Amino acid sequence: MIYCDYNSTSPVLPECISAMTEAMATPLNPSSVHTFGRDAKTMIEVARSDIASMLGINLRKDQYTIVFTSSATEANNLIMRNFDYHVASSKGKILVSSTEHISILRHKEYNNNIDILPVDSNGIISMRMLEEWLVQNQGEANLVSIMLANNETGVVQPIKEITAMVHKYGVLMHSDCVQGPGKIKCDILDLDVDFASISAHKFGGPLGAAALVYKTGRNLLPQILGGGQERGIRAGTENIPAIVGFGVAAKKHTHQTSRLRDIFEAEITNICSDAIIFCKASPRLPNTSMIHMPNVPANVQIISFDMKGIAVSSGSACSSGKVKISHVLTAMGAPDKIADCAIRFSFGPSTTERDVAILISTWQEIYTKSRVQL
Ligand code: PLP
Repeated sequence: MIYCDYNSTSPVLPECISAMTEAMATPLNPSSVHTFGRDAKTMIEVARSDIASMLGINLRKDQYTIVFTSSATEANNLIMRNFDYHVASSKGKILVSSTEHISILRHKEYNNNIDILPVDSNGIISMRMLEEWLVQNQGEANLVSIMLANNETGVVQPIKEITAMVHKYGVLMHSDCVQGPGKIKCDILDLDVDFASISAHKFGGPLGAAALVYKTGRNLLPQILGGGQERGIRAGTENIPAIVGFGVAAKKHTHQTSRLRDIFEAEITNICSDAIIFCKASPRLPNTSMIHMPNVPANVQIISFDMKGIAVSSGSACSSGKVKISHVLTAMGAPDKIADCAIRFSFGPSTTERDVAILISTWQEIYTKSRVQL
């Protein structure tokens, strides 16, 4: 199989597997006072420090805290729920962009105080509209949440500038940075966000380990009650093997270049001038390409690629595996007919030139076959 779905999840690095296998062979509960328990505690703190370094943070010096969660979905819920609580008492308002992950966007179903900031046809938020919202909601606004990079289109938002603007109006800033590490620089200290979510399985770490990173001193309420683990913010015995793997992945993380993605896109445009490469003009993750193949529905493309041994996804599959029209493309103004035929290709550090050559010829084959059938 050729794997082109790194934004969905990445293969676990061999170094993580060996560190996790070793950790799994020992009974490790960091709440225990005995030697094993103390070892477990050390393992967590080593991982925390390696993850902090990846994010440009020195935990001894910089005023940031890292709380481990089971997923970035949980980390996003932790932050959104906290501001829901605050909203209940202060009627504060929250602003989120229209292309956020559903673990952010779905809070609107339960909270009328969440406003949506639109994006333009290139997937970028408007600084002017952001400022208008901050002015209109001065004194009431609590939180702005805008992702660093979109999982479907790869569009990278100017988080540093956005944060500076949000702070100018005394509002707090959260960024879902899940798609950053392993692809682009993700320096939380430099971005200056108050809260950020990250997830191990997007950059070579295991499933089941993620974190909410936040400026120390923010008084967060836990959404899971129990023992005092993770400074009382996230109860439950820590998943030590997964956290160890998370730390190793952070230590080993690299950035990607756009060389293979650019070759791929250039060839697709040569094959079919009507193919649409979404957000080509925007700053994007170097590994991501969302492409519309004219008149071939996403589910047909995914199955056809799979039959040829290539794993891709539409970027918008729900947990049932069904392909839905992408809310991200819809938010950018793409008509359903266009969005319905779009597929996401996301490469990783182990993607080769040969993989991309096979991908290009398979794309051409699927497209040519669809023309014959028309
Ligand atoms: N945020 C973004 C941008 C994502 O791409 C994902 C995963 O697809 C998540 C959040 C959720 O991450 P997790 O799988 O750790 O729950």
